[in-house]
Amino acid sequence: MIPLSGSVRAAIVAVGDELLLGHTVDTNAAWLGLELGTRGVLVVRRYTVSDESEEIAWAVRDAMRVAELVVVSGGLGPTPDDVTRDAVADLLGRPLQTDPDVLESIRVRFLEAGMQELPEPNKRVAQVPEGALKLPNPVGTAPGLVLETPESLVVLLPGVPRELRSIVDGSFDELLARRFSEHLPPTCSRTVHTSGIPESLLAQQVRGQLPEGAGVVTLAFLPDVRGVDLRFTVTSMEPAEAERRFDELERRLEPVLEPWRFYAKRGDLAEAVVEALRARSADLSVAESCTGGLVAKRLTDVPGASDVFRGGIVAYSNEAKIRHLGVDAVTLEEHGAVSAPVAEAMAAGAARVFETGAGIGVTGVAGPGGGSAEKPVGTVWYAAWFQDRVAVRGERFPGDREAVRERSAQAALLLLLRLLEGRATYQGPPRG
Ligand code: AMP
Ligand code: MG
Repeated sequence: MIPLSGSVRAAIVAVGDELLLGHTVDTNAAWLGLELGTRGVLVVRRYTVSDESEEIAWAVRDAMRVAELVVVSGGLGPTPDDVTRDAVADLLGRPLQTDPDVLESIRVRFLEAGMQELPEPNKRVAQVPEGALKLPNPVGTAPGLVLETPESLVVLLPGVPRELRSIVDGSFDELLARRFSEHLPPTCSRTVHTSGIPESLLAQQVRGQLPEGAGVVTLAFLPDVRGVDLRFTVTSMEPAEAERRFDELERRLEPVLEPWRFYAKRGDLAEAVVEALRARSADLSVAESCTGGLVAKRLTDVPGASDVFRGGIVAYSNEAKIRHLGVDAVTLEEHGAVSAPVAEAMAAGAARVFETGAGIGVTGVAGPGGGSAEKPVGTVWYAAWFQDRVAVRGERFPGDREAVRERSAQAALLLLLRLLEGRATYQGPPRG
């Protein structure tokens, strides 16, 4: 396939019965579309197929007719329903061979996990089509596999989103540059992280600030349950000039972005919280109910969090809140467990128990049951405590149980960050 009009065309093939049956939402294709787009590659077609060899082969063959880059997601695992590598190896006439390096790396992973013997099915993951290029997988066992044909570059990626993303982040720039350098203009990008504002509202405000558009810079809004990233991209421009344009755009957008943005190298708000605590030589503990430890998990995901994070208590029952966090039984009785005073008492209780300068408390109704007219599913109260100052918020979060918990943890971390920055105040009901 010869690229038309200078741009490289891609097709995405998502493999998996679970995608067709609706058990899993295909987030990989959406994410790949954005990632390829910012690299100057145009996604022209998407396929979703079952775990059948014939289906996979049909889709890949068809995709190769319309696209010079074919990215396949899923079906590279060790179970019998993972047949993507076999189907594509067969289609392109590249027999599978066991790759000693991949086999060894899987063996090491299993040894590290405390297993002496590598299970037979897992050895399949080490099978690589003849002549395929391997793309390192920093977070899993199956490497990405690249097969070159005269028409197309066919890339096979594992379906687990975290693995797929880390392979693309690590390898795609170089991979695309090697094969398509004449057709792909060089691109530069910058990402601004925000949390606490919905995508539609942010987009509206950004547009309000840029009535004539962003000039040569392309803006992309990348939302997920934790927040919205705003990405600036330019193509065919000197990096220094690109940086100057980004600076200028950020200056113009400052009034809109300033209340919502946070700074984090890996894009995780928990990083920003750890950094803010470190800068103030403060330490933190947490008290969680509906999030069941998620806030603590988020914090301990950050390398080096032990500098500032001391520990947490999951106090799910009223009794646990009273006994382990010193929440007042009368307060619980009067206001209910999901309330501003209880969130505040949990944050203060954690700080007292762990003797930390800062504390977080989260209590809510994650659903699907447990809601009431007064406190419907999604009602969450959360509090942040720092040096005897406290900020409390109540919200009704949309989404299922998992989404409510994710949003709650994110909101609580954001509130603490703003409190540390001196930008959040008490906003609960009047205290008496
Ligand atoms: P697989 O590589 O097919 O074994 O997929 C491993 C897991 O990744 C599946 O159980 C799904 O939960 C997830 N997964 C597979 N494909 C996708 C996709 N397109 N989008 C989101 N998640 C996926
Ligand atoms: Mg699968």
